Amino acid sequence: MKILFLDQSGKPGGAELCLIDIAQPYRDRALVGLFADGDFRKLLEQNQIPVEVLTSQSIAVRKQSNLLQAFTSLGQILPLIAKVVETAYQYDLIYANTQKALVVGAMASLITRRPLVYHLHDILSLEHFSKTNLRVAVNLANLCASLVIANSQASQTAFVQAGGKPDITRVVYNGFNSKNYQTSNDDIQKLRQRLGLENKFVVGHFSRLAPWKGQHILIDALAQLPPQVTAILVGDALFGEQNYVKQLHQQIAELGLEKRVIFLGFRTDIPQLMAACNLVTHTSTAPEPFGRVIVEAMLCGTPVVAAKAGGAMELVEHGVNGFLVTPGEPQALAQVINTCIQEIEMTEKIAGQAKNIARQRFDVANVNQQIAQLLSNVYQTK
Ligand code: UDP
Repeated sequence: MKILFLDQSGKPGGAELCLIDIAQPYRDRALVGLFADGDFRKLLEQNQIPVEVLTSQSIAVRKQSNLLQAFTSLGQILPLIAKVVETAYQYDLIYANTQKALVVGAMASLITRRPLVYHLHDILSLEHFSKTNLRVAVNLANLCASLVIANSQASQTAFVQAGGKPDITRVVYNGFNSKNYQTSNDDIQKLRQRLGLENKFVVGHFSRLAPWKGQHILIDALAQLPPQVTAILVGDALFGEQNYVKQLHQQIAELGLEKRVIFLGFRTDIPQLMAACNLVTHTSTAPEPFGRVIVEAMLCGTPVVAAKAGGAMELVEHGVNGFLVTPGEPQALAQVINTCIQEIEMTEKIAGQAKNIARQRFDVANVNQQIAQLLSNVYQTK
């Protein structure tokens, strides 16, 4: 089966990193078509996955766009649709990995009669999207997609609540290769030394810098924790959230935490950095559709505290394989971090359990098998 994968982003967010694993088994007969150029293209190339940037124009529709803006952008989308249609004739199936990819993929599917699969990496609710965007996504998926792969039950439920057809959806969690998350003690010590983190209790936050990812919650919590606790913020403002970055620096200065917060920018050595942390925190203030960073921390054997909402609640069972705290509450977060500092044995036991569970539950080979089965069903019944 030849697959045309479509993704709107040139930047490697969670959905894009997930697509690398999904496209991998098909790389000798697939193409990933992108609607923007960037580091994601380079990552695909490094993984020997054929990739082509299908347009040089960026599409103006944002998550919060209204109907008028959506229509205005039609002029930009039409040449892209034409290009995708021409390309899709050489493939058996169109796999849309993002919302704009769904819009373009749906049109191409109608014209070329190639079946459409939509991988839903979002919680389609008004917290994340405008009404127009929600309606467009749900209606197009209902009308054109043979299958909607939701990345969690939370994403699936939101899709159905927004009017999506339940019978075309299946939940498939992201898969991970646990071998990529092994770091030697020697490398961990060297990394901590290089970053000036020896003798510190290191709390890591791994997310793009964006208000709803809640880095400010961790900083507020840090102000309530003992001085040896240091935070590393790993990730960049991928989608132009420069004001938020400014606010974070201001907040740090006001709280006098300049020496206790380190911004590391976007990194590709996530497993090593996570292994070098004593604890990983996830602080999203809106429900997380899945939360790759939570599973990655588990695979590294680092204890993880996550915000209790959305997909995170399917990944973490409080006190069994991690900790859950109410989103947006720095005091509650500080309390859990303090417990982890004091109760080392209990925390290590939980991190060990988390590693074992995550290795089985999110094994990339199993996940790819599930997806292969689903895609072959779609292909056979087209
Ligand atoms: N990530 C990365 N480098 C960074 C920060 C994050 O590679 O500097 C990765 C992180 O390891 C995870 C992904 O980006 O695999 C983020 O996925 P998640 O589901 O946590 O959030 P999303 O970006 O999809 O909202």
